[in-house]
Amino acid sequence: MRTLPTLVLALLLAGTAARAAEMVMLTPNEGKSVTGELIKANREKVVLKVGEGDAAQEVSFTWEQIKKISNGITREKALLTWAKNHPELLCESCKGEGKVFCAACNGKGFLPDLEKVPCTKCAATGLMPCPYFSCKLGKVPCDGDCLRPEVGTWTKGKEGLMWRRYVFNGGFAEWSERHYGEVIKMKDGRPTNMGKCPKCKGTLKMDCPVCEGKKTVTCVACKGTKLMVPNCEKCKDGKSTCPDCGGSGEKAAKKPDEAKTPAKP
Ligand SMILES: [Zn+2]
Ligand SMILES: [Zn+2]
Ligand SMILES: [Zn+2]
Ligand SMILES: [Zn+2]
Ligand SMILES: [Zn+2]
Repeated sequence: MRTLPTLVLALLLAGTAARAAEMVMLTPNEGKSVTGELIKANREKVVLKVGEGDAAQEVSFTWEQIKKISNGITREKALLTWAKNHPELLCESCKGEGKVFCAACNGKGFLPDLEKVPCTKCAATGLMPCPYFSCKLGKVPCDGDCLRPEVGTWTKGKEGLMWRRYVFNGGFAEWSERHYGEVIKMKDGRPTNMGKCPKCKGTLKMDCPVCEGKKTVTCVACKGTKLMVPNCEKCKDGKSTCPDCGGSGEKAAKKPDEAKTPAKP
């Protein structure tokens, strides 16, 4: 059970200092992982104490620089904890999120009133390369029962070829790499070559299930229409920085005299 300890830790963090020392490994987006005592995790950053005694130093990372932390804490969890523990400090406009819906696009992230433009994601072709990880030119490795180099144990043998051995009651039988793409099955108690793999026809490759062998799929951005509505330039994904807290999410950001200054006409 991993969720519970993480939650308990999150509660301990309280946005400022962790009361219980915990060693974590932090993996940044760039550079080496750092192991140290987690001493702070607030809305902006995570601070670790690295090293012992006199050599100990604090190392801080902004959330943007962090790929992951070994105890599973994320910015969202740290923020939630902070918000729970400091409700009085939350910005009233954005409720601590630091962002509000963009007024220019009404939170949509794009401007539906503007004329559509050629899709930038697919160079207006309506298609994008197949995103499936193992798809190469529309083909993926065969997942049938055929002999192939990545399945089973192959050892160098006669004629300098790679051989795969099948052991059975009466001894063993071997097939060389020349039989890639053929299916070996037990028949009448002994391994038998059943001929070419019905799935890949002996080619070791089959059509990619995602693009069906076509190498491309419909562009997700324009849904194949080749046109898209331009993105709102005032925001990112429909949200913009909260004007009241400047994105900190905290109410206390304003200085007392500034708060008293009457608004300009
Ligand atoms: Zn916008
Ligand atoms: Zn096959
Ligand atoms: Zn594919
Ligand atoms: Zn497109
Ligand atoms: Zn705010």
